[in-house]
Amino acid sequence: MLLKHTTDKEIDRKALTINPAKTCQPIGAMYAALGIHGCLPHSHGSQGCCSYHRSTLTRHFKEPVVAATSSFSEGSSVFGGSANLVQAIETMFTVYKPEVIAVHTTCLSETIGDDLTQIVSKANDDGLIPEGKFVIYCNTPSYVGTHITGYSNQVAAMVKFFSTATPKKKNVVNLVAGWMEPSDMREIKRLAQVMEARTIMFPDMTGVLDTPLNGKYHMYPDGGTTIPELRATGDSKFTIGLGQYCTEDACIKLENKCKVKFEVVDIPIGLKATDRFLMSLSRHANLPIPDSITEERGQLIDLIADNAKYLYGKRVALWGDPDTLIPLTEFLVSLDMKPVYIVSGTPGKPFDERMSEILKDIPEAKFMSGERADMFRLHQWIKQEGVDLLIGNTYGKYIARDEDTPFIRFGFPIADRSGHNYFPKTGYVGATNLVIQILNAFMDHQDRTCPEEKVEFQM
Ligand code: SF4
Repeated sequence: MLLKHTTDKEIDRKALTINPAKTCQPIGAMYAALGIHGCLPHSHGSQGCCSYHRSTLTRHFKEPVVAATSSFSEGSSVFGGSANLVQAIETMFTVYKPEVIAVHTTCLSETIGDDLTQIVSKANDDGLIPEGKFVIYCNTPSYVGTHITGYSNQVAAMVKFFSTATPKKKNVVNLVAGWMEPSDMREIKRLAQVMEARTIMFPDMTGVLDTPLNGKYHMYPDGGTTIPELRATGDSKFTIGLGQYCTEDACIKLENKCKVKFEVVDIPIGLKATDRFLMSLSRHANLPIPDSITEERGQLIDLIADNAKYLYGKRVALWGDPDTLIPLTEFLVSLDMKPVYIVSGTPGKPFDERMSEILKDIPEAKFMSGERADMFRLHQWIKQEGVDLLIGNTYGKYIARDEDTPFIRFGFPIADRSGHNYFPKTGYVGATNLVIQILNAFMDHQDRTCPEEKVEFQM
């Protein structure tokens, strides 16, 4: 009973967040940077920030995430970290030999006011950036925004520093990946391949954070979007952004810089969002959706139809990131379930507007985004009237235990389970995985808790 003091009585909190449903901006920037081939993320701040961000990613992916730090001391905290970063750039290129260094800031360096443009330009003037190597950067103060903002800023920086337009557009569609698992990216690329569409995905964590164990350590795994691919995004004929919060900024920048038109769709989680993604790709790549993909869709619908009685009317509480929660909530509604409580620590109007629309036929549904949309509030709502299922990251396990409620891990971070970086939740196959997980959670709970005379062999 770790959360036994949580009450159902909400009070108006103006300046207090309890168990936030978000994390630091730099984690997002660090994660996005790992989607560039041969990239070493660099945290411009103190060691503690870098350790926390790196270890959070390592715990989630169960992979050794490498990142460097400017390692601020008392001196750099007072006088600025310019000298540290210049020295770090020289050391990294000399010792660790990355193709790209992706620098992001932290609360401390932002508060001091370190000017990354000026510092990186000095490193360049001093000849510390070798020919053919790059230093890119973005600002990620954690006192504004969240890990989602940091991810978005880093992806936008990829466009700013690399995308280049030549006079000739190519028959290629850019896929700007929002925050999702490498498995989700792999599934989206597989769908594009089955359609025979030529695409460039960026960032791309496949082959970086889902690598096989082969006895050799590779500081820079084979995966990730390469520099020539990032450059070529400026010559593509269209861009599809997957998730508004994480990718819209990059899409706008790419259009402004290289005149590549774009459309932002939801991350393809669930039936309708996958339909919309595939229709968009089909339209812009000018290719039909092959029968094999339609067959996968049919299998998903068959599974849903076979098990509708277990899903109908089930009340669900969700927490996490807006780009994932929006299509996930829509999917649950299409399963005739009732997503009744939803919180996201990342603020923004699009979340509120989309949720209003998706939940318009569920009057009892409550949703909230921003700093006060925290795990404590979600638990208070659950105390007021319980739910049948919890879906979210590991921070929900205490609520699940206290309320004895089935719980499916989804989102970031997941520190206490494995497999999320191998098994997708995107596409029809991913939606099938998700429905199976939901059904198993309900059936396991029923088998465990129902009276003996109600135990069913056939379910
Ligand atoms: S909130 Fe700021 S200071 Fe704290 S770990 Fe995150 S980036 Fe570092």
